Order: sequence, then C-alpha cells, then structure tokens
Amino acid sequence: MDYYSKEISKLIEALASLPGIGAKSAQRLAFHILNMPNDQVEALSGAILHARQNVKYCKVCFTLTDEEVCPICRDSARDHSTIMVVENTRDLAAYEKTQKFAGVYHVLHGAISPMLGIGPGDIRLKELIRRLEGEVREVIIATNSSLEGETTAMYISKLIKPTGIKVTRIASGVPVGGDLEYIDEVTLLRALEGRTEL
Ligand code: ZN
Repeated sequence: MDYYSKEISKLIEALASLPGIGAKSAQRLAFHILNMPNDQVEALSGAILHARQNVKYCKVCFTLTDEEVCPICRDSARDHSTIMVVENTRDLAAYEKTQKFAGVYHVLHGAISPMLGIGPGDIRLKELIRRLEGEVREVIIATNSSLEGETTAMYISKLIKPTGIKVTRIASGVPVGGDLEYIDEVTLLRALEGRTEL
C-alpha cells in the first residue's frame, strides 16, 4: 500500500477490515468515497455513526432495534408462545421476509463454537431460558446447519427438554454451512414447515 498517501492507505485498510470486502473492493470503495461530494460523505459517515450510537438490543428478544422493545415483540397479534431461536438479526429478517411466521424470535448473537472459544455464556442463552418462565408452547431452533449451529441446537434442546416445553429443529433442507440469510424464502418456509421435534 506504499503507492498511496498515508490518509488514503488508512481509509483502504479500514474498509478492508469489513467482512466481505477484499483488498480490491476496498481500494475501489476508497477512491469512490474520495470522489464523492463532501456533503454525501458527511451523510454516509453520519448514518454509520448515528446507527451505531442509537441501535440497541430489544429487551425481550435481543434483536437490534432503535427502541426499548422491538416492533415484533410489541405486536399483540403475534403468537408470543412460539419462539424461534436464530443466530443473528439477519436471520430474523430472512424469516420475516417470508411473512409466514407469526410467532416471536430470540436472537442469540452467535453460536457455540468450542474451536473459537465461544461457550454458552457468550451468547444470549440465559436470556432465552429466562423467557421460558412465561407462557411458552414451542421453541423452534433455527440456528444454521453449520457445525456451530448444530452444536448450539443440541445444547439448547438438552437445556429445554426437562421443562416439558416442545422443542423443534427446522428441517435440514437448508444447505450445510449455509447462512440462513442467503437462502431463498421457499427453502426457508419448507425448512420451517418440515421442522421435527427434538
Ligand atoms: Zn424484540
């Protein structure tokens, strides 16, 4: 990166640290930004800062929201006794897009991964167990079909089973290791409808 001035290199490095942005894309983005009018750059950096400062976790389901309790958890028309457990807010959005799930969610913010040193205490599991003290009929585990997602699903099912609450796992029509957010709606629906009891 010696061909560029220090300020340009710094911008390229910052962009390249984002997921899915390789060195080439980072350079392309950096020069695009440098050619943008000042007010547009201010709007962009302002949007990033503003989102970062104002977005928080929903007190109930822990999805990212700018309110204390997210619109889904506030919605009394939804079935609050059916909780779908997902790894992140993007997975929640994928299921919401299908418009076929009328229950509520619980967002773990990660999955158990002994290899990466992520244990049950590092994701929002305690918070899920606390929610089960309310009136819950079914917990649908919709973590990814990766090794981490499966490990997490097994762990959660063992934890919930003794309570007598029904625990189901979405069908594995979802490609192994596939991130839920990239899967089309039909496949997601099929996975949900074909869920099996654990
Ligand atoms: Zn919520």
